[in-house]
Amino acid sequence: MAVTAKVDVKCGFRCNNMCRFCVQGSKRQKYTDFSTERILHTLELARSDSESVVLTGGEPTTREDFLRLVRRASELGFSHIQIQTNGRMFASDGFCEDTVAAGANDFSLALHGHAKVLHDYLTRVPGSFHETARGIRNLKRLGQHVGSNTVITRSNYRHLPAIARLLVHLGVDQFQFAFVHALGTAAENFARIVPRYILVEPHAKKGLDVGIRHGVRVMTEAIPYCFMEGYTDYVAEKVIPRTRIYDVSVVDDYTHYRVTEGKTKNVQCEECRFVDICEGPWKEYPEAYGWSEFRPLPRQKRREKP
Ligand code: SF4
Repeated sequence: MAVTAKVDVKCGFRCNNMCRFCVQGSKRQKYTDFSTERILHTLELARSDSESVVLTGGEPTTREDFLRLVRRASELGFSHIQIQTNGRMFASDGFCEDTVAAGANDFSLALHGHAKVLHDYLTRVPGSFHETARGIRNLKRLGQHVGSNTVITRSNYRHLPAIARLLVHLGVDQFQFAFVHALGTAAENFARIVPRYILVEPHAKKGLDVGIRHGVRVMTEAIPYCFMEGYTDYVAEKVIPRTRIYDVSVVDDYTHYRVTEGKTKNVQCEECRFVDICEGPWKEYPEAYGWSEFRPLPRQKRREKP
């Protein structure tokens, strides 16, 4: 078996937000939460070939056994224990302290707006903006490594620079703008949720500039290289490590899944100088909007010898 750099352990699909773009949304009705025993067993399996674990969901912090799961990951010897979360529970100082004491040492929170009205509209939970922003502050005050993920939608893409300014102000160590994947709830709301790449591009780049100027690590996810000219160093897919996902079933290599099943390229991509490393867009995007925005980037000409 190949060495896995990271394992994602989904703890189930319950969540205290109801995001309009949730890729997992439809699983809430379909599946019951995973049992404590199942997740403990998964952690043991995962530890056999990985040092790094991500507890994710749904929203893992809403589980009654959440701290027990973090503690077990720590006892098993994972050196890197990341919590992927909407961040609301971390508005409580005590909850932050307990989670850090249990062994978590990396946090990825989700902020989707620069202001209450936008973030709360997207999460459909009044007050969620203030809780998530406070969660970031609390965790930074405890000296934790904190990143943020912003899902790019039609409602927030124009505000990416303002979101970036807020994230810098809150003190995050890194942030990522991830183009919405139109599955689950996002698929149900496709027309209202999924923006056009060509419109997103200038705002995403200005947002990245904010982070770059302040020395914050920045990335984009699921934006093909043809919309990232001048910013191709910030494409997350270049650096995502080999990851196994324990979901309802196991995805042994998430990169392989993305390239073979999740994303797609078009015949015109063959002319593009990034064709070998570009994964293309999530396939639902061109199925709805076509390929007219995608412009293969010309290969660099070899310099003629004098
Ligand atoms: S390979 Fe296709 S999708 Fe990727 S950057 Fe080039 S034109 Fe765009």
